[in-house]
Amino acid sequence: MQLIESISDMRRLVDRIKASGRRVGFVPTMGYLHEGHLSLVKEARQRADWVVMSIFVNPIQFGAGEDFARYPRDLNRDSELASWAGVDVLFVPKVEEMYPSGFTSFVEVVGITDRLCGAYRPGHFRGVTTVVAKLLNIIRPDVACFGQKDAQQLIVIKRMVEDLNMGIEIVGVPTMREPDGLAMSSRNKYLSADERRAATILYRALKEACALIKSGERSGDAVRRIMRQTIEQEPLARIQYVSACDRGTLEELDPLQGPVLLALAVFLGETRLIDNTMFDL
Ligand code: AMP
Repeated sequence: MQLIESISDMRRLVDRIKASGRRVGFVPTMGYLHEGHLSLVKEARQRADWVVMSIFVNPIQFGAGEDFARYPRDLNRDSELASWAGVDVLFVPKVEEMYPSGFTSFVEVVGITDRLCGAYRPGHFRGVTTVVAKLLNIIRPDVACFGQKDAQQLIVIKRMVEDLNMGIEIVGVPTMREPDGLAMSSRNKYLSADERRAATILYRALKEACALIKSGERSGDAVRRIMRQTIEQEPLARIQYVSACDRGTLEELDPLQGPVLLALAVFLGETRLIDNTMFDL
């Protein structure tokens, strides 16, 4: 596996690979890799001949007071895991090269970015779409894989790629979970032992909601209520939002019908965790 830091080196290598007729797959990440990231690599390998993973903790998607400075970083460990998973090139650009002085261009998807996480993290999705657009312009992949774990991000990226005619296949990959159901996340590292035990409440709330829907319930309010009530039973958990919305518009549904997204954002102490599930009714 090759490690590349400079944007021009990355572009030159992609030129060579594309000239040889190979299909390029791409997995963007912020590093501190876990099995969720590696499942994206596996998916990309099945859909492409050559896989690039990027590791870039993107400063412009973090708000003031968020965890940019303390976001976990471990490039040595990440290199080993990425190589083991079958990544061909690890692209690790520097912040100064991605955002040189004079940088003033941003990519913004409007509307759906104001809902769910976007309502609580102003500017977050503008940072995400801008960096993803830049990375897609550098790598020019045929296919890029994103986790369903970050459901709104996946929906926003699909919108951007379609609206801007980028001609890249965007694939959503199912969420990898710990044995007790907690969605894998680099941020799980922040949790104390007690918070880690309590964190399973997100998955349990989604399960309760799914069971209610399976039993025939179609009221959006009832489903949002059961998720709230379940989470409120856990004293260490503090709800930021619960949502039962349409997967296209991200508008709250009542009754539940069509493509449904159940989504949660919950604080365990200082750590904000998200989780979701998707289905069609
Ligand atoms: P991150 O490094 O957190 O920015 O995530 C990089 C990519 O990995 C994003 O597309 C995430 O949605 C995806 N991802 C994160 N956690 C998981 C997980 N538990 N299962 C599957 N994909 C994930």
